Amino acid sequence: MTDEKLTMFGKEKNPSNILPVKYTLDSKIKFQCHPGVSCFTACCGTIGIVLTPFDIMRLRKHIGISSDEFLLRFTRPDWVEKTDLPGVKINLDEEGRCPFVTDKGCTIYEERPSACRYYPIGMANFHSGGKEDVESEKFFFVVKEKHCKGHLEDKEWTIREWRADQGVDLCDEMNSEWMELVMRRKSFGHQATLSPEAQKMFFMVSTNLEKFKSFIFESRFLDTYEVDEETLEKIKDDDVALMFFGFKYLRSSIFGTQDLQIKQDKIDARVAEMKVEQKEKENSIVDTYEELKDDRDKLASMLDEVKQSKAYGGPGLDKK
Ligand code: SF4
Ligand code: SF4
Repeated sequence: MTDEKLTMFGKEKNPSNILPVKYTLDSKIKFQCHPGVSCFTACCGTIGIVLTPFDIMRLRKHIGISSDEFLLRFTRPDWVEKTDLPGVKINLDEEGRCPFVTDKGCTIYEERPSACRYYPIGMANFHSGGKEDVESEKFFFVVKEKHCKGHLEDKEWTIREWRADQGVDLCDEMNSEWMELVMRRKSFGHQATLSPEAQKMFFMVSTNLEKFKSFIFESRFLDTYEVDEETLEKIKDDDVALMFFGFKYLRSSIFGTQDLQIKQDKIDARVAEMKVEQKEKENSIVDTYEELKDDRDKLASMLDEVKQSKAYGGPGLDKK
């Protein structure tokens, strides 16, 4: 039974197709999507499917191509969740159809992206309460669009059963840290801007784990950050571990968290560099002061000379 009393918002405030009801994991829904529905594959076109790092990782492995090739053939760049964080969406074909759809359905069904699995059940996570008593309220909602005939099917299940069937829990586990980064960035609003370098790093970790791995092992990354041997061994061979390590790196480099520590000798070297820069600045201020003082002294002595010359009846500087 759906929890009809937990109304989210009135219809006048909800022009979208979200039903104004809060659902729990035990709420029941009637829905089924299968080749027999008249709208079969109707929702696989004219849509914007954002790909998470986990989606890209498993899709490119399933197809058997590199991240570079996957990005080039199947995606287009886009901002994530209207932030200044760059990501990718599935590139639709000329008719506005997903490149993975055929009349028989989704050709990558077992590995389909998270967004395709969630539909038509969304999850909301609201924070409420005072500063010292922040409570997080999680609930689910149903998107009911006119063209989707799956809602007319008789199959009834709880949200929990539906999510298990769609493999959504694994997506949540794999995507949640990345989504937290996006939401945190979103909370900063448009006035805060991210440096182009930070944007590049976000894009690399989010879309191309092979490149990120090269960056770790082939650049000066390991000279800069403290990474223990066990972690290094793991991220060499395990892409999921590499992905989560990437989220740590993004958290510390974008938001200044302590997830990754910069090596002490690098900090010392930077402090020494800053001291030298500071000293150079101070010296240049002293030099400027000395130059001004010299100019002032020269001017004062010229004026003295003029005064003396006038006192002795000379022409001074006045040529009239
Ligand atoms: S990935 Fe599959 S389920 Fe998702 S839009 Fe494309 S064809 Fe449809
Ligand atoms: S519109 Fe609904 S029922 Fe039709 S294919 Fe898409 S999800 Fe399935």
